[in-house]
Amino acid sequence: MVRELTCIVCPKGCPLRVELEDGVVKSVTGHTCPRGLQYANDECIHPMRTVTSTVLAKDGRVIPVKTDRTIPKEKMFECMELINATVIELPVTVGQVLLSDILGTGANLVATANADESL
Ligand code: SF4
Repeated sequence: MVRELTCIVCPKGCPLRVELEDGVVKSVTGHTCPRGLQYANDECIHPMRTVTSTVLAKDGRVIPVKTDRTIPKEKMFECMELINATVIELPVTVGQVLLSDILGTGANLVATANADESL
């Protein structure tokens, strides 16, 4: 079986061609760096994603957030439910951990912007 992917690790977007046999990656072509090779292997065997979203602050502002590492793609929906149910206290600073070890993935949800207490 052959899968054709676009590498999403950087903006170059290299087209990848992955040959799979019995769920095992046999070859990867099209990548122009080792990160693309890793992406192709991960995407075919155990896809991972960084989650980028917003959380609500108690004063009604929305604060941009992201996971500080990738999580299994199959946990993204559950992760978004958790993020949508979260209301945070201000102030927050960039990189501040708002949720730890999301769903046991080892990833934390961190703020990607500063927000002070006053509007
Ligand atoms: S293979 Fe390397 S250069 Fe190409 S898109 Fe992926 S990370 Fe970027």
